[in-house]
Amino acid sequence: MAINPTEPYDDENIFAKILRGEIPNKTVYEDDHVLAFHDINPQAPHHILVIPKGKYVSWDDFSAKASEVEIAGFVRGVGHVAREAGMVEPGYRLLANIGHDGHQEVPHLHVHIFAGKPLGPMLM
Ligand code: 5GP
Repeated sequence: MAINPTEPYDDENIFAKILRGEIPNKTVYEDDHVLAFHDINPQAPHHILVIPKGKYVSWDDFSAKASEVEIAGFVRGVGHVAREAGMVEPGYRLLANIGHDGHQEVPHLHVHIFAGKPLGPMLM
């Protein structure tokens, strides 16, 4: 079910539990600002999720409330993961679902990285 991006942060959401190490994940990369791990239900040959370590429900509150250091750390983290995975050539796709119409299901900001095949045009 899609979430409301203006709801308060839920410490029991699945990605909060992953960050606390309460649920296992296949970690790709971790630093002070981000955790990157394989999506449990991949939609492409490579499907990685990158999340900030701060408690942000969605792109909406992250872009409004996160510090410059957190924002830079997240953006750099996403780029680092894609580079280290060798995705720059032949390319990849970033996606962030936000709120009901964006069909965001997990209420902790995450960026999807899709790669590993020609992904075609966006289906909008
Ligand atoms: P959203 O629709 O919120 O943008 O995407 C949430 C993503 O989280 C989905 O692609 C889903 O497969 C993934 N996901 C949900 N629960 C888990 C989990 O427990 N572990 C991992 N690794 N991914 C999850």
